[in-house]
Amino acid sequence: MMIIIVILITGIVVMLYLFCWVYKQDLKDWNNGYCKECNSPWKAFDVDSSGAVGFKCSCGRCIWISYWLWKHGKCRFKDRRG
Ligand SMILES: [Zn+2]
Repeated sequence: MMIIIVILITGIVVMLYLFCWVYKQDLKDWNNGYCKECNSPWKAFDVDSSGAVGFKCSCGRCIWISYWLWKHGKCRFKDRRG
């Protein structure tokens, strides 16, 4: 019985860790609404089946922002400066 509880807890911790990692990566790529390479604003071009939003910039890079981040307003354009 103990081993099942240990496996469950480990599973939950790993999932939380992965979630945080994806969250941080997405925010890093988002960079307050601008591409890090060419400094041009992201433009939404597609939404995938899970609800993630795809963005493109003028240098051709593209990023996918997960539905969760988008839904909770972590990637709104109001954060833009200048
Ligand atoms: Zn770019």
